[in-house]
Amino acid sequence: MLPDRLRNLSYLLARLPGVGEKTAQRFALHFIGEGRGLATDLGQALSELDAQIGTCEHCGNIAEYDADGRAVCKVCSDDRRDPRLLCIVAKIQHLLAVENSGAMRGRYFVLGQLLSPLDGIGPDELPIQRLKERIRAAGVTEIIVATPPSVDGEATALFLARELAHLDLTISRIASGVPHGGDLEFADRITLGRAIDGRRGMDTPR
Ligand SMILES: [Zn+2]
Repeated sequence: MLPDRLRNLSYLLARLPGVGEKTAQRFALHFIGEGRGLATDLGQALSELDAQIGTCEHCGNIAEYDADGRAVCKVCSDDRRDPRLLCIVAKIQHLLAVENSGAMRGRYFVLGQLLSPLDGIGPDELPIQRLKERIRAAGVTEIIVATPPSVDGEATALFLARELAHLDLTISRIASGVPHGGDLEFADRITLGRAIDGRRGMDTPR
């Protein structure tokens, strides 16, 4: 029924998280109806995305490339942040959630993923070397592990505590309050803020 271009657009839109086939088609039709101008603006914003937005070379957060092609995020370039305090998160969405809570005055490190033996994600898949370099380079003295309160999140937190045990660090884990198995991304900011304020020290077995 639909012209090829529109069908292709629907197909692409349906690959977005939370967008089903019907919604994708509704979006596609919107662009050729009342949303005509929007299509051009959106197209331009999207086409510039790959070239201009990357991940921060220090922490893995979203960052814009500067004129020299380097990407340093707003948190890492903010001098008012405490460089000795580092919050480790699994995903950028979690960094944004923690940041939104307003309880974090340090900086971040994004792991990219959690340990997940069932999905074949082992210790080698985590950027531990980069994390250690970052800790050394920034003179970090305190680590807050803000991985989610899930099986994988707990396993990752324990793994990190063990990996970093030989460094001279205080390591704490965000307090419960975020429901077990719940995603940090969807925790409200007050709950998350309390979880960070109420963090507990982790044993660091040697
Ligand atoms: Zn950064």
